[in-house]
Amino acid sequence: MAIPKKIKQLTELALKDKVLTQVERQTIVKAALEMGVPEKEIDAYIRQATDERIRTIYSKEEMTHCPYCGALTPLISNQCLHCFRDLREARNITQQIQIPRNLPLSPRPRERPQVLR
Ligand SMILES: [Zn+2]
Repeated sequence: MAIPKKIKQLTELALKDKVLTQVERQTIVKAALEMGVPEKEIDAYIRQATDERIRTIYSKEEMTHCPYCGALTPLISNQCLHCFRDLREARNITQQIQIPRNLPLSPRPRERPQVLR
């Protein structure tokens, strides 16, 4: 099913201020469901529209993907624009599991294989 024009307008309007707030998103989803749009479709549509909007504002270096849902998110954003989870928490976890600096990046080949006697 095609996304109704009204829903497209609502999404466009909501994205005018760069981001989609949780309330705005809920409003759009609710309106779409009332019009008979399957949740999966409206979900995909909003995600695509948000991604496109972000791409027009931020450069490649300024964007990242949400570790939870994979949606495009500006680096400066503390919250995913799609699933609204806190991204600061995820970044901290990523930092914690980084390889310690004192570990060699690639193991040195052994100079001579040890021969067992
Ligand atoms: Zn997300």
